[in-house]
Amino acid sequence: MSWTATDRYRLRAAPSGLALVQDFLNTRAIQTYGLDLLSDADLARPWAAEALAEWSRAREAEVPDITLGSSDLRALRDLRESFVSLVDGQDAAVERPIKAELVLRDGVVRLFPSGTGRQWLTSALWTETLLAQQSGIWPRLKLCRLDGCRSAFYDVSRNNSGVWHDVRTCGNIANLRASRERKKALS
Ligand SMILES: [Zn+2]
Repeated sequence: MSWTATDRYRLRAAPSGLALVQDFLNTRAIQTYGLDLLSDADLARPWAAEALAEWSRAREAEVPDITLGSSDLRALRDLRESFVSLVDGQDAAVERPIKAELVLRDGVVRLFPSGTGRQWLTSALWTETLLAQQSGIWPRLKLCRLDGCRSAFYDVSRNNSGVWHDVRTCGNIANLRASRERKKALS
């Protein structure tokens, strides 16, 4: 079991349940690397099965029994774009209402996703966003600044200043492009 969407871009997974949001973002296609895992139910189902198994391990919760159908894909891709905006620091269009459940266990109140199918997944993504925002780790989830990459990475730099998912690859490409532009401007 693993965060399959995030793994295919060889990225470090975000801590705990926030990795679900990261993995959801990384279902996007990156040219020459990977397909859009939400473009087809045959790709979306195995992705969701792996991601939900990882999520349940991170949250010590039962694995939710959800099935995604072809009719869910469009809404999920729209939701993914809302998360792209949100991670980029913009406001996002949201399908309402978003529901979640409060569960009391061992004297601790915990927030859990609720609903079935796509609604459950939607609820889980927002629940994890809320928890990450409250614990202060949300601003570390970022999209690589390089056009054509935009993979979702978790920034572990000390002052949260990272903008590339990998400085040696995307950072270098961006530097090369910038120096080419400078040379062009000078000539
Ligand atoms: Zn990148």
